[in-house]
Amino acid sequence: MQTSTTCPYCGVGCGVLVDHDGNTIHHVEGDRDHPANFGRLCVKGSALHETLGWHGRLTRPRVDGLEVDWDTALDAVAGRLDATRAAHGNGSVAAYLSGQLLTEDYYVANKLFKGFLGTPHLDTNSRLCMASAVAGYKRAFGADAVPCSYEDLEDAELVVLVGSNLAWNHPVLYQRLRTAKTRNPLMRVVVIDPRVTDTCEIADLYLGLKPGSDARLFNGLLAWMADKKRLDHVYLDAHTHGLDEALAAAREDDTSIEAVAADCDVDPERLQTFYYWFASQLHVVTLYSQGVNQSSSGTDKSNAIINCHLAGGKIGLPGAGPFSITGQPNAMGGREVGGLANQLAAHMDYHTPGAIDRVTRFWSTDSLTPDLPQGPGYKAVELFEAIERGEIQALWIMATNPAVSLPDANRVRAALEKCPLVIVSECMVDTDLLEYADIVLPASSWSEKNGTVTNSERRISRQRGILPPPGEARHDWWIMVEVAKRLGFGEAFAYAHPCQIFDEHARLSGFENEGDGSRLFNISALAGLDRADYDALAPIQWPVTEQALHGTARLFEDGRFATPDGRAKLVPVCPREPSQPLSEARPLRLNTGRVRDQWHTMTRTGRAPRLMNHRAEPFIEVHPDDALTYGVGDQRLARLVSPSGEYRGRVRVSNSQRRGEVFVPMHWTDRFSGNARMGSLLEAHLDPVSGQPESKHGAVSLEPF
Ligand code: SF4
Repeated sequence: MQTSTTCPYCGVGCGVLVDHDGNTIHHVEGDRDHPANFGRLCVKGSALHETLGWHGRLTRPRVDGLEVDWDTALDAVAGRLDATRAAHGNGSVAAYLSGQLLTEDYYVANKLFKGFLGTPHLDTNSRLCMASAVAGYKRAFGADAVPCSYEDLEDAELVVLVGSNLAWNHPVLYQRLRTAKTRNPLMRVVVIDPRVTDTCEIADLYLGLKPGSDARLFNGLLAWMADKKRLDHVYLDAHTHGLDEALAAAREDDTSIEAVAADCDVDPERLQTFYYWFASQLHVVTLYSQGVNQSSSGTDKSNAIINCHLAGGKIGLPGAGPFSITGQPNAMGGREVGGLANQLAAHMDYHTPGAIDRVTRFWSTDSLTPDLPQGPGYKAVELFEAIERGEIQALWIMATNPAVSLPDANRVRAALEKCPLVIVSECMVDTDLLEYADIVLPASSWSEKNGTVTNSERRISRQRGILPPPGEARHDWWIMVEVAKRLGFGEAFAYAHPCQIFDEHARLSGFENEGDGSRLFNISALAGLDRADYDALAPIQWPVTEQALHGTARLFEDGRFATPDGRAKLVPVCPREPSQPLSEARPLRLNTGRVRDQWHTMTRTGRAPRLMNHRAEPFIEVHPDDALTYGVGDQRLARLVSPSGEYRGRVRVSNSQRRGEVFVPMHWTDRFSGNARMGSLLEAHLDPVSGQPESKHGAVSLEPF
């Protein structure tokens, strides 16, 4: 048999064809009909079937260390959550979710926690990935709305990659861009990144900027365009406001090429070439990723990029726009249902006019009225600080490992240790997070789950259940529905299949939202799908409405944005240095990221030997001069130290690093290698707008080990 589904790794969201017999997957290949990848897969996707199997899977629920049946586990979850709320209030319970969840799981979690448990404290590991891009879009466009499609990368005359190692982190998108560049020799690619990465192989121009100086570089571009009379005043006058304020902010610094180049530590001639190329082309896509977002000024950086696109009218056209690429397979789906603590539901924030009343009425049943919080909850890092203070007494974690991935990870572990009730829904038996769990719930995984995900270009695709879950593992949505029933909310959670959840999600997206920014996320034309239609749902880009039944490839083509006056806003940006200061004791700037063949904490990719071949152990990438200065040798062991922890790895001496900077991968946990957790090195410095932690700009010392 062959079933089409979607890869569970990165935000490209590739379609996968799976050959199986209902019990075993024999082969996977790229789905030629899927518009994200047209048959391509990267090495991770093509090894999917090698990462499966029941070995190492959680198969039985556990309560207080003892294996129990599901009824006992679900009664314990419901009873303990209820008791916590009764003793400490609704806000004493919280959930921490993941971009690995399917949209249907996310929807049920959001409805249960915010709607019926009455707590605003539900956030997601997507906070670590793209919260700054979300905040930047909202400030500029009035909505969290990615304007572009992958096709736009192929249609562009100039593609600018900022803080993105596309070749490793979104490999199929990189392959598409590479092919497009081969077909169109006039296309230019600019890579702006402190590290020389494999992505630079297709670069016509590389700017190895100083970490954190992106906003200064794009502010300089805005001023240069104004000075050289390259602004599109027709577009600006018709569709935007805020140019004067944004220009004034940019000009608070010296915007001469020499001054900007000095502050960004790039060659002035190269900088000028980039500015000239950007200003000269209309069809420009700027694609940005975690290198922009994971910063204490990530929102400002994204707005500095968006400002330049608006100022040049380079948006709403084929091959044009500021394009944030998500890391996780369903970061976008989480945003759709309200999975961020500052959101309420369906792209509505708490301050969206009438939203609380609207959602209350939508979720009400004949006998149940939801108990919605009146304002935003704690964002990821704040949530664990609230646990540390004792304010949050019960936490349900699904499909993620904050003990590794959050900054100040040792402090997160201490908070989990202190939390009276930790519930963990998890697939694997040996993640180090389970040490902190009072209740462990075995969850189904990719190839077992049924639902939808949304990729970086707003395309909703089906993930299809193919294999039976191992042992007593259950789907996340089912687990939450059973808990909701035990809490007395059964009428509002009467779902027997994910298609019913998707239907409700689609209906809410179009419910009385004509008057505000949330109207952009409207998939109401997908409401009412029966099980057969849902099973057959083909990939489609939102919005999907009666006027756009086949979806929407590009937003803002009419120049109307989701703000009250329909105009986009150029946001004044004052560049800021990273928050984690360098000092004599911590002289090196720490950069963090993924390696090509691994995903997150390697619970899946770590099971495929061929994926381990690429980078088999934790490492520290160091410039040759720094290796000499700090007395560390190539392939020798060394350690990085910060006030919050240390990281041990093998040194890779490399000219791809700038002097004074080191790079470590994010994947290793104590399970795979003692003391190589990247999160333990980083301090918790947050972007004040988005709450996203500054994971790209740590400050560390280096010594032989
Ligand atoms: Fe999966 Fe991303 Fe690779 Fe596509 S590019 S196969 S979505 S990991």
